[in-house]
Amino acid sequence: MTARRLDGKALAATIRGELAARVAARTAAGKPAPGLAVVLVGDNPASLSYVRAKQKACGEVGIVSRLDHLPAATKQAKLLALIAKLNADPAIHGILVQLPLPPQIAEDAVVHAIGSLKDVDAFHPENVGLLTLGQPRYSPCTPHGCIQLLRRCGHDPAGKHVVVVGRSNIVGKPLAVMLMQKPTAANPAGGDATVTVAHSRTTNLAKVCRQADVLIAAVGKAGVITADMVRPGAAVLDVGTNLVDGKLVGDVDPAVAAVAGALSPVPGGVGPMTIAMLLENTVRAAELIDGPVSR
Ligand code: NAP
Repeated sequence: MTARRLDGKALAATIRGELAARVAARTAAGKPAPGLAVVLVGDNPASLSYVRAKQKACGEVGIVSRLDHLPAATKQAKLLALIAKLNADPAIHGILVQLPLPPQIAEDAVVHAIGSLKDVDAFHPENVGLLTLGQPRYSPCTPHGCIQLLRRCGHDPAGKHVVVVGRSNIVGKPLAVMLMQKPTAANPAGGDATVTVAHSRTTNLAKVCRQADVLIAAVGKAGVITADMVRPGAAVLDVGTNLVDGKLVGDVDPAVAAVAGALSPVPGGVGPMTIAMLLENTVRAAELIDGPVSR
């Protein structure tokens, strides 16, 4: 079997087209364009390239983005002061502080400081709580991107056994929460799946993974998911991003393509979907803060 490619790059372009129409309708109705503030501290090359990709995508849908690029030695108080300014700026609807941050800055303090209505990454405890209750204000970008990629490529997780490998607060845990939730009008992303979460202490990871109709790898170790861990025909999402000899690769060994029914590539799978969901949250933030366009 050669796995069907789950083309996140192409789907993200379609979603950007849909968002561009939503933004155009807002501006035509006299509402301000959605504004995203991106804050980068330091010169981590991967972070720089993510930030550039996010700003380029904003431009494509009509979101106005600004970048505050601060030196690596920036003190926490200075970053918090900038966030307070952005919280109060009516032209800014979403605030994204690119992680990781240098060691002198506590990530929690920064995440808590972003106004919860402008928290388009959905990391603020208030937004995590709302998501967990099944009343999301914003859905976290990578988990939401995974669910959209599955659904819109014909692999609806409803009723399926999904195994998520990884339990981080950014990917694995919120993804498991979203996948197990009942879809409702307030929470259309709910996956209605039966979910197993695996991690570094899971006994017999291969056996657990082989039970999956849908296997999602969010580990951060190149090739950790091998062909013998995949049930023939399963759909596999590769969230991992690992640099190996200067090349970006996922967590899924290339030999999995011969066993899986569908597989998301790295690059070009979950990554572009994550950015598309960030744009969607920013448009939603503008709708929540400035009001929807009246029909
Ligand atoms: P993380 O915080 O380091 O979490 C990794 C998870 O993998 C942990 O739960 C860890 O278990 C588990 N793990 C580690 N080694 C394992 C093993 N051998 N077997 C099973 N589980 C293992 O990473 P993250 O932030 O979730 O990110 C995961 C990957 O996704 C990274 O490569 C990251 O760069 C990538 N990522 C991509 C996107 C995108 O848009 N494409 C977005 C976000 C992240 P413990 O909890 O037991 O330590």
